Amino acid sequence: MSLQIYDHRSRSKRPFVPVEPGKVGLYVCGLTVQDVPHLGHMFAFVACDMIRRYLEYRGFEVTHVQNFTDIDDKIIARAQQENVSAETVAQRNIDAFHTAADALRILPAHHYPRVTEHVPDIVAFVERLIESGNAYAAEGDVYFRVRSWPGYGRLSGRDLDDMRSGVRVEVGDRKEDPLDFALWKRSDGDTPGWESPWGRGRPGWHIECSAMATRYLGNHFDLHGGGRDLLFPHHENELAQSCCATGEAFVNHWLHNGLLYLGKSKMSKSDGNFLALDTLLSRHPAAVLRFFLLNAHFRSQLDFSEDRLREAAAGYDRLRRGAQNLSNALAAGRNGGTRTVVPGLVSLPGAALAEAADHRRRRFFASMDDDFNSGAAVGELFGLIKDVNHYLAATDGRGLDVEALQAVFDLLGEADGILGIFPDGLAEFDAGPGDVPDEVGELARLRQVARDGRNWPEADELRGRIRDLGWDVEDTPSGPRLNPIVGT
Ligand SMILES: [Zn+2]
Repeated sequence: MSLQIYDHRSRSKRPFVPVEPGKVGLYVCGLTVQDVPHLGHMFAFVACDMIRRYLEYRGFEVTHVQNFTDIDDKIIARAQQENVSAETVAQRNIDAFHTAADALRILPAHHYPRVTEHVPDIVAFVERLIESGNAYAAEGDVYFRVRSWPGYGRLSGRDLDDMRSGVRVEVGDRKEDPLDFALWKRSDGDTPGWESPWGRGRPGWHIECSAMATRYLGNHFDLHGGGRDLLFPHHENELAQSCCATGEAFVNHWLHNGLLYLGKSKMSKSDGNFLALDTLLSRHPAAVLRFFLLNAHFRSQLDFSEDRLREAAAGYDRLRRGAQNLSNALAAGRNGGTRTVVPGLVSLPGAALAEAADHRRRRFFASMDDDFNSGAAVGELFGLIKDVNHYLAATDGRGLDVEALQAVFDLLGEADGILGIFPDGLAEFDAGPGDVPDEVGELARLRQVARDGRNWPEADELRGRIRDLGWDVEDTPSGPRLNPIVGT
C-alpha cells in the first residue's frame, strides 16, 4: 500500500504525491514565545517529528521548517510587565522550547525562522497582496480583503455569510469589512516596530507563516503542521494570503493534530489550563511523555491526566521489558549459552515467530501508511512483544532461533527509528560487549545529535575521537552500537 494522507479538499485520505519527487517540504507553526511551552504545544512538534522520521525512513529528503513568533502583542505586554525587552522574553522561551524539544527527542528543524529576522520578507509579501488588490492600507494598518478570494472558508468548512453574522464590529475599526484581518499593524509610541511603506509597524500574526514558509519551501509545498485550533482562522488566512500572493496552490496536506485536553477543556496558556513542561518532566521521564503522545492517531483528541500518564508509563515499561527479554535471548542464542538451532534446520516455533514478525511488520507499516497512525503502529509492537514472549515460553529458552529473534529485534529497531521512543535506541537493551565508558557513551550521544542535525563534519570528528578511545561506532537499524576495537 502506498502512503495515504488526509486531504482537506476532498475530506478523505489520498495517496501522497510529493510536489518534487523524492523531497518533502514540511512547515510547522511554531510557538508564540511569550511563555514556556506546555505539553499541548509539544504534541504538535512530537507528531510532526514522527511524521518527518517516517518520511525519512521511506527515503524522502525532508526539509523541516518551524517558525518562532518572537514579536506579538502578548510578548510586548509580558516584556513591559517585566520591564525587559521583547527580545529578552522571546529568547528565554525559545531556549525553553529547545530544552523541551531535546528532552522529547524531537529532531531539530532545518530552519527556525523568526519573525524579527524576516520583516523585509513579510513587508514584500504584504506589498504583493496590495498590488494584486487583495489587501489595502488604512491609517498605518494593512488588512487582507477576505471577500477578494472566493476560496476563503473552504479549508475550515465555513460559510462566509454565517461568519459575517458572528463578527463583532469594533469601534474605531479601520477595516472595509469586519471579516478582514490585519497583515500589518501600526506601532505607536514605545511599541516595537519597523519602518515600512505604511509607516512604523509590525507584522500581523498570520502573514509571517505565509512569508516564511514560502521563503524556505517554495510557493507550493507538501505538508503543513499545527494544532487543530489553528485551522481557523490562522491556517485559513495563511492559505488565502499565500494563494493570492503567489497565484499557486499553497499546501498539499494539512497535518492538524488533535488537541490535548486537561479535564474538560483544552490545554491552553491563555486560560491558565495547562501543566508546565518542566514540572511534568520533573515527575515523568520524557520518554514516557513522548510515548503517551504517540500512542494514538495524531489527529485524535488526547485526554491528559495523571492516570492516563500512569497507564502510558505501564505500557512503555512493558515494551522495554519485552525488548530486554528479546535482547537477552538473542545474546544467549548468539553466544551459544543455550543450544541454538542448527542453520538449515527449521525450528517450528522459530518459523512461527518469523512468520509472526513478518505479519507484524506488514501491519506496522500499513498503520504508518494510513495517515501516520502511530497509535495503531505501537499496537503492533505490543503484539510483537507478546509473540516473542509466547515463543520464549514455548521453547523454554532452548533451541533458540537466532535468525527469527534477530528479525524481531531489527523490526523493533526500525520502529524505534521512526517513533523515537527509546532514548538510546536499542543499544539500551544491548546485552553485548560489556560496559562502555561514560566518556565514550557521551561522545556517541553527541555524534548522534550531530547526525540528526545533518552535521556530518562534526559527526565524523566525533567518530574519530571515539575511535581514539578504542571504540568503533556501528550504525545499525536499531541505532548506533559501540564495539571495542580489537587489537589496538
Ligand atoms: Zn502559522
